[in-house]
Amino acid sequence: MSTCVTCSRPLRFQRRYVFESDAFRRIYKGREVYRCEACNLSQVDTARVDDAALTGYYREDYRNVGSAGQLTEATQHWYAKRAEALAGLVAEHGPPDIAAIFEVGAGYGHNLRALGELYPAATLETDEVSGDANAGRDGAIGRGELGTGKHDVVILSHVLEHFTDPVGLLERVAQSLRPGGVAIIEVPNDIDGIERLNGPDEPHLTFFEQPTLRALLERVPLETRALFAAGPDYTVSDTRRALRQAVRAVLYRVPVLSGVLRRRAARNVAALPEFAGENPRGVFLRAVLRKS
Ligand SMILES: [Zn+2]
Repeated sequence: MSTCVTCSRPLRFQRRYVFESDAFRRIYKGREVYRCEACNLSQVDTARVDDAALTGYYREDYRNVGSAGQLTEATQHWYAKRAEALAGLVAEHGPPDIAAIFEVGAGYGHNLRALGELYPAATLETDEVSGDANAGRDGAIGRGELGTGKHDVVILSHVLEHFTDPVGLLERVAQSLRPGGVAIIEVPNDIDGIERLNGPDEPHLTFFEQPTLRALLERVPLETRALFAAGPDYTVSDTRRALRQAVRAVLYRVPVLSGVLRRRAARNVAALPEFAGENPRGVFLRAVLRKS
């Protein structure tokens, strides 16, 4: 049994872990979510996570399981709006002379492309990107690694909650930043009872709320400049909603209907207010960290 990923204190059973695939059952061999006795962070038993299998999962299975990371018109809108908001945070808190931007796990590249538009002279790098993020852009997004002290900006968008050692990851981010550089973090806001943002728990290993994220950030050699909830309102789960979602999941399997549903979802996302700014009922938690 592991101890807390933030403060190394003992964990207590909180609830069952909700899996979506057999692939992830082979990665997380526990079946529970625990809460830290001291800092309250919800998390899996990381001693029972197979690190090698986890790496393989992100390489091969992640975007094929359920709705995780699939690129539809609705998710395109969603990612683009989120990228705009994160780029806005960089403009507000970052150093004036931004030359090197790094994103850990860049997804389809939306965040880096939004930053590239704000800072056309800056280099854009990531350790991992899906699909053809550079399509039509002359290979603007390059490959790189953390930990060189050269980056003005490091982005971790929905990344922290996938790591068995989030403090270790943030220490590497700190090493990677030059003095005055900023790290922008976004994770799901996992308020108790909230409708799960990605359906089931999988593939998240930690479940942050504002106080538990703050406690983790205090362990890292970076100054927390901002920490707030943002994005569209979360909805608290209830039985009727769960039933509706189950019905929708079935309808999505019908080819003719799935096109209609996807177009409607895209319109709904397009109609959402901007993702920037604070919203205490927002589905995201955002943090800005600065290296002094
Ligand atoms: Zn703890």
